[in-house]
Amino acid sequence: MKKNPEFALSTHLIHTGEPRPGIENAVCLPIFQTANYESADGIPYHDICYARLSNSPNHKALHEKIVAIEGAESALVTSSGMAAISATVLTLLSSGDHFLTQSCLYGGTYDFFTHDLPALGIHFDCIDPTEPASWESKLTPSTKLIYLESISNPLLQMPNFLEVVRFAKAHGLHAIIDNTFGSPVNFQPIRHGFDAVLHSATKYLNGHSDVIAGVVAGGATLIENIRCKLNHLGGSLDPHACFLLHRGLKTLAIRMEQHNQSAFKIAEFLARHPAILKVNYPGLPTHPQHAFAKSLFKGFGGMVSFELKTGLAGASSLLKKIRLPIQAVSLGGVESLITRPAGTTHAGLSPEERARAGISDGLIRLSVGLEATADLLSDLQQALPQ
Ligand SMILES: *Cc1c(COP(=O)(O)O)cnc(C)c1O
Repeated sequence: MKKNPEFALSTHLIHTGEPRPGIENAVCLPIFQTANYESADGIPYHDICYARLSNSPNHKALHEKIVAIEGAESALVTSSGMAAISATVLTLLSSGDHFLTQSCLYGGTYDFFTHDLPALGIHFDCIDPTEPASWESKLTPSTKLIYLESISNPLLQMPNFLEVVRFAKAHGLHAIIDNTFGSPVNFQPIRHGFDAVLHSATKYLNGHSDVIAGVVAGGATLIENIRCKLNHLGGSLDPHACFLLHRGLKTLAIRMEQHNQSAFKIAEFLARHPAILKVNYPGLPTHPQHAFAKSLFKGFGGMVSFELKTGLAGASSLLKKIRLPIQAVSLGGVESLITRPAGTTHAGLSPEERARAGISDGLIRLSVGLEATADLLSDLQQALPQ
């Protein structure tokens, strides 16, 4: 079904991009588990499908859905979030170029920027995304791009989005944002002037912790250039993984509604609890970017982080006592996950780097899943000091 601009996001997720009538009248789009396609007479060579070129029916249907929900001209699915990030950055930057980013980035992205890009002659400086007045001093004549995350891990800080777009336009930079933590249900950066939005679809978009995938959406020319780069790098999404992502996407809107509501209630509960020192959640009025988060976001997502008054000892005890959330990294699935970033996702940083970033040893990060909120609350209650 073609994109109908009148449809709400939840309707797009289910109907846009679906062949109607279905193939052989199938209600669900089948998996095209084929690498190559016949080169029938009259089909130009460049239009022949091949799964690595991201042009199978499974790819095309996903692209149409993502275009509709992001408000983008074009979209591309990739074999991982990192494949989307690396192909995008390598499309926009080449030797001699400079870009601006934040120091608190997803670990894989940070490692790619620090370990791989310098060897290609691409360098960056970090800015504080919440302090627009400080950005201009980091510009160089070769600055081409500003790359940020919509909600940072694990402190859930937000850049000043509208200032980022204004700054990028004023200085001729591409503005790219990783919105994995936000999800397109809560925030659609393209509609606010970003050139491209990236997702690890491994997280909320698929939502079932059983696929590794990525997404980039943006302008038609930019996405076509990224697609060419991805064709060369080889990071296309396998048709079977396309099918799983497609299935997961259909319930994204209703899943996010529950993630938003449940995490909000849990953040409020924690903020009131006498054993808790600090709660990080963009939905709380105490969050430093709450005011503009409220004006731009439909909901505040399912990620909450917090510290106990008893620090590391309290965190370790909570992790031993908690029953429902699984101790694991990653996020955005149906099951709640809990982790202590200083010991897992941010263990690669030195203690000084962690301290500078504000990540204490006792900080706990919770990805609120789709269990009943009441069950999660009573589990937290029994696991916290009485
Ligand atoms: C997980 C994640 C990535 C990387 O995604 P993969 O699918 O694991 O490659 C990138 N950015 C953010 C914010 C993430 O959480």
